[in-house]
Parts: sequence; C-alpha cells; structure tokens
Amino acid sequence: MWNDKNYHTLDWELKNIFGEKTIKLSIDGGFTCPNRDGTKGSKGCIFCSERGSGDFNSDCSKSIREQIVEQKQIMSKKWNSSTCIAYFQNYTNTYDNVENLRKKYLEALRCENIKGLAIATRPDCIDEETAELLSELNEKTFLWVELGLQTTDERSSNFIRRGYSLDTFNSCVQLLRKHGIRTVIHIILGLPTETRDQMLSTISYVSEQKPWGVKLHMLHVLKNTDLAEYFNKTQFHLLSLDEYVELVCDSLEILDKNIVIHRITGDGKKSNLIEPRWTLNKLKVLSDIDRELKNRGSYQGKYAPL
Ligand code: SF4
Repeated sequence: MWNDKNYHTLDWELKNIFGEKTIKLSIDGGFTCPNRDGTKGSKGCIFCSERGSGDFNSDCSKSIREQIVEQKQIMSKKWNSSTCIAYFQNYTNTYDNVENLRKKYLEALRCENIKGLAIATRPDCIDEETAELLSELNEKTFLWVELGLQTTDERSSNFIRRGYSLDTFNSCVQLLRKHGIRTVIHIILGLPTETRDQMLSTISYVSEQKPWGVKLHMLHVLKNTDLAEYFNKTQFHLLSLDEYVELVCDSLEILDKNIVIHRITGDGKKSNLIEPRWTLNKLKVLSDIDRELKNRGSYQGKYAPL
C-alpha cells in the first residue's frame, strides 16, 4: 500500500505531495520552555536533554537563515532534492509573542527551497491568537504542528513531569482541528510506570483522535537528565529490541491507516545516549519491524476500529 512498507510512512506521504524526496532541516529557533523556565516547572520533562530534545540541530546563536543554509549543506551530501521543510524542533516553538513567532517562521519560509514548516510545541502553548497565526501560515505553506503527548496515563504523565493535563491536550487538538492545521502527536513507548496494555491504550486513544501524524519513540535514557539518575538508582526495565519491535507492530496494527507515521525509532545522539544502545542501529530496528509485519501478514490499521 505504501510502496515497500506495510505502514504509512512520512517519506511516502511527502513524495506523493511534493513529487520528490522531502528533506527536513532541524533548526533551533532560540525558544525556551515553560516547563524549564519556572512557569510550569523548572526541571523540565524527566527525559529531556540539555538541548530541549533537539540534539542534532544547528547553533541558535546563528540566524534561522544561516542555520537553514548550514543544514542544507549537510543534508545535500546525503540527498539530492530541492524540497525542504524547516523543522523548529528544540524546546517549545510557539512559546513567544505572536509578533516574534511570525518573524521567525517567515524568516524560514523566505529561504530558498523551503516548501513547508514543522513546529514542535506543547499544547498549553497554543492559544487562540497563536492558532490564528498558524492558520494564516497554513494558507501560505505546508504546515504541521507537533505535540508531545507521550502518554495518556495520568501516573506516567506525573512521573515524566509533563506539566499539562489530558484535557489541555484535547482542547489544543480541537483548536488546531478547527483551524484545519495538521497535527502530529508524539508518544513514548517503554516508560517504567506503564504496562504494555497501558502503552497500547495510549495508541488506541491517539488513533481515535485521527491526527495527521504520529511519532513513536523508544524511551531513551540520556546523559545529564533526571531520568538517567532514576535509571542509575532503580535499573528499571528497558524494552529489549525484540520487545520494542513487537510493541511497535501491535501499535501500527491499531493505528488508523490514514495516520502518517513520522517516526518509529528513537533518535538519540550516540555520545549522549546511556541506554538502550540497540536504538543506535536504526537500520536494524526498521528492518526488524518490516520483517515482523511481513511475518504476521500484517499492516497499519489492520485492527483499527472503523
Ligand atoms: S516540553 Fe519539551 S522542551 Fe519542554 S521540558 Fe518537556 S521535552 Fe523538554
């Protein structure tokens, strides 16, 4: 259904839309996060790295244009394509006043070959005014907004110190839907506070919301995080590669087939990653998932409710 894959990949979706490989350029817009600056919390989410979950990005002391030029040069060694999406990744990329946000987004959009914007943020940082700005951009370009839900389980959301409720998430999803904005939801698999059934319950919930896309992450224990300290103390169980592959395949089976899968592996920087080290071999993770789906004779949405 999706070329050689049994799930609806972002690569497939964007090739269909733009007619060629689309490259995502990760940039740091110089934002902070209310879960770090004391507004919602001062320690951040328990797993969050020093760079605000964007460890591969350029240097935010450079302008957005400079970062885009630099990222294009790096990516051109790997891909030959003139279709790029500027991905505002680090920290909370709607956490500023609307004028500053507009300035930063437009600076990215004015760069050569930028055909769209991806904006990662928190649901408690999009109010009506921000949604209107996003809506305005949505008419000009190909836009999606990423929300870090991670889990629907309340105990787990307290454990990770997410700092907002499921109601807040739901209201934000409704607001973005009202403005016709594509939404991508991040989920973490392997939290130590959750059983497999609880993880799949988050997946079912997200599937029912019918977002445009989903990102599945394996929980990473990164250096200099509170999760690393907790891991050192408790040595909690981290999913093995086989357990993760099985869980991802179960998740894909219950995710609606129209949902675009943006990621099914983690993306930790080698030098920052404590565990699980098997995630560094991304090609193996991806090929094991492909093989497991084929062995099962299965595909995304096989068990999704109609
Ligand atoms: S909301 Fe994002 S940037 Fe803020 S602490 Fe959590 S993971 Fe880090």
